[in-house]
Amino acid sequence: MLKIDCLLAKPSKGSAGKTGLWRTFKPIYNPEKCNHCLLCWLYCPENAIEVNDEEVKIDYEYCKGCGICAKICPKKALEMEEEE
Ligand code: SF4
Ligand code: SF4
Repeated sequence: MLKIDCLLAKPSKGSAGKTGLWRTFKPIYNPEKCNHCLLCWLYCPENAIEVNDEEVKIDYEYCKGCGICAKICPKKALEMEEEE
């Protein structure tokens, strides 16, 4: 996959601490719906999403549960679920 990290300004993971502690909702990934478009990776304000050819990985240590990824996903492959 094309590495475009160097071409875009991205927030650095962990710059605001362990933002996963802020979360009340978390994104759940459904690989069957994903088309690997990278939009979730591009828009995540915590840089907590990694997309490769196979899957989307969410780093829950830094995902703050803002829901932007689920909102932006054109395939509804990410859905927000309340934390237990
Ligand atoms: S935005 Fe949705 S479809 Fe695109 S890579 Fe992320 S999870 Fe997959
Ligand atoms: S909910 Fe999605 S966009 Fe928001 S911090 Fe977590 S992974 Fe990033």
